[in-house]
Amino acid sequence: MAFEKAKNHSLVLKEKLKKWNYEYYVNDNPSVSDQEYDQAMQELIAIEQQYSELITIDSPTQRVSGEVSEKFNKYVHTSPMLSLGNAFNYDDLIHFDEQIKELTGLSEVEYTCELKIDGLSISLVYEQHLLVMGVTRGDGIIGEDVTVNIKKIKSIPLRIDQPNLTVRGEVYLSIEEFNNINEERVKNGEPKFSNPRNAASGTLRQLDSAIVAKRNLNAFLYYYVNAAQDGIQSQKTALQRLEQLKFKTNPEYRYCPNIAAVWVYIQEYGSKRHQLGYEIDGIVIKVNNLNLYNRIGYTAKNPKWAIAYKFPSEVVVTNLLNIFPSVGRTGRITYNAIFEPVLIAGTVVRAATLHNADFITERDIRIGDTVQVKKAGDIIPEVINYVAGQRQIKTPKWQEATNCPECQLLLERVDGKVDQYCINSICPKKITRGLEHYCSRNAMNIEGVSEKIIERLFKLGYLKSFSDLYQLEQYRSKIIELENFGDKSFENMINSINNSKNNSLERLLFGLGIRHVGKKTAKLLARQFKTIDNLTTIKIEQLAVINDIGSIVAASVVNYFATPAKQQELALLRKIGIKMEYIASNQHLIKKFENYRFVITGVLSKPREYFKELFESYGGQVSESVSAKTTYLLAGSDAGNKLVKAQKLNVKIISEEEFKQLLNKEE
Ligand code: NAD
Repeated sequence: MAFEKAKNHSLVLKEKLKKWNYEYYVNDNPSVSDQEYDQAMQELIAIEQQYSELITIDSPTQRVSGEVSEKFNKYVHTSPMLSLGNAFNYDDLIHFDEQIKELTGLSEVEYTCELKIDGLSISLVYEQHLLVMGVTRGDGIIGEDVTVNIKKIKSIPLRIDQPNLTVRGEVYLSIEEFNNINEERVKNGEPKFSNPRNAASGTLRQLDSAIVAKRNLNAFLYYYVNAAQDGIQSQKTALQRLEQLKFKTNPEYRYCPNIAAVWVYIQEYGSKRHQLGYEIDGIVIKVNNLNLYNRIGYTAKNPKWAIAYKFPSEVVVTNLLNIFPSVGRTGRITYNAIFEPVLIAGTVVRAATLHNADFITERDIRIGDTVQVKKAGDIIPEVINYVAGQRQIKTPKWQEATNCPECQLLLERVDGKVDQYCINSICPKKITRGLEHYCSRNAMNIEGVSEKIIERLFKLGYLKSFSDLYQLEQYRSKIIELENFGDKSFENMINSINNSKNNSLERLLFGLGIRHVGKKTAKLLARQFKTIDNLTTIKIEQLAVINDIGSIVAASVVNYFATPAKQQELALLRKIGIKMEYIASNQHLIKKFENYRFVITGVLSKPREYFKELFESYGGQVSESVSAKTTYLLAGSDAGNKLVKAQKLNVKIISEEEFKQLLNKEE
């Protein structure tokens, strides 16, 4: 490539990589696949190898990618947390082995192979046997102090049998846990995490440690910092020592006497990787003899004694049979692809998302094309593109839907956004999806009313609105005649429907399907306003001052309650006997903690949310930071700064036991 062209191209690549790094490391929400990222990085490396004058100190090839969010306290790593060089094929591996041989003068090098866990790296610092610091990699020099969250990971010991240690590893989420979290998020009306790595990173880099405690993060530790200084000779022994110290280490590692054995290991785990229960994106190959590390050396970005072999992404090609739109509860249109079944990452896949109309038209994907399909993050199937050169000449261009697939009404694009919407309030699919949501576990929790039943009852004209649910009794004789329905299932369904009348307000608020009101916002609103009447007359300004409720959510809530059709439906629900009041999980008549301010810190026997609700149910207030106004600091084990501050300010500090006594004390 000519110099000027290479220079311009390198600038474009640097800008792209910078943007992608920010999305990936700071927002935990990448917009491109890892393969696309790696390809751009390799292109930049190639240009810089050809023209070394284009290498700048801030080039992504020269420094550890990653940033430090302002949300966290900063921590300077005692030794840098580096990245790893990459190998993509057998030749890259042989090249790596030859370099090591050259640098060490050895004719054969011994390695340890480990799985490359797809999570985020952390560094744990133990002093006087205790875990004192848990830090993210950040930019490699400075990391984010996430100690409070790290302590929520059950497999990480808070105390070890060795006075001092810095140990590093990877925090990850199992695939099962990742699926559970996403299922929960869908129910709460929140966007799904795209893969376990982003979910793990998004969780660990959370300010609310109660959320971290709920999501079962896990960690494999693999790097004993300064092991050689502690008399440990090899990576294999270092892993064994970590195991002895009760750290969770990955059992799949293997000592390999030479690079040929490394290749065998890579092949083996290339096929085993989908049976592990967690995601790996490659294999890390490390020189086994730790005494050679200083001789082999480091670049500013990577150790030269290790390399990450990256698995090729599993992309398969298949025939695109159809593209069809579907409409969701909010009226948003999603496009789906149906193709000839293919095996990807160990499972047979027949359908995948094509997102929205712009996604398809921008790529010019057409029905009949041969398309590339992959599982994003090896989990969610996605059509990437069509295979050029394999298209039949006469394949017509794909046209986006103009009308709703269910009610045929003209679709609209709202707020200049990419998505199309069906705005028909009586669109059958929107109604049935809305009913499904109303009955779902996190909303009104009505068991025995499945998607199928809703659709059947809707078609028969018995069920069109939430209030209809409570009047199904009148169709008893007809419903029990239906296939797979009997007296017993009808009875159970009616009981469950009737039970839902006594739910606390937040369930109803979430179930109504008010735009932008997920489970958390519904709870916030219910707690703050107590009855639905207080909400129906609310003004945007009153809502927008509440922490965590932005102007968009506020406008949506006000708009919902101002809509005549919604008002009529709410009036009907009230007439039927639906309780429209907030019932605190433990509502007490005695407001024994009225005017008390609590702060919670440290590790307690139950999640913080539990204690928070308890304080609040007795009229107390819970705040995040200790001040002179704090009445009590409830301190669990391993309390940090808050404890110190409370001591300085002479705030009363109570243990969990003392809190229980306080609670049970007669007035
Ligand atoms: P890397 O992921 O290629 O390798 C280094 C990391 O591997 C270490 O920091 C460590 O956290 C991890 N690791 C896992 N198991 C390990 C083990 N057993 N031993 C040692 N290390 C282990 O490098 P990186 O700098 O962390 O990240 C760069 C990669 O991240 C890119 O190659 C790309 O795949 C991805 N990325 C993607 C985007 C995107 O937009 N999609 C953006 C930035 C980075």
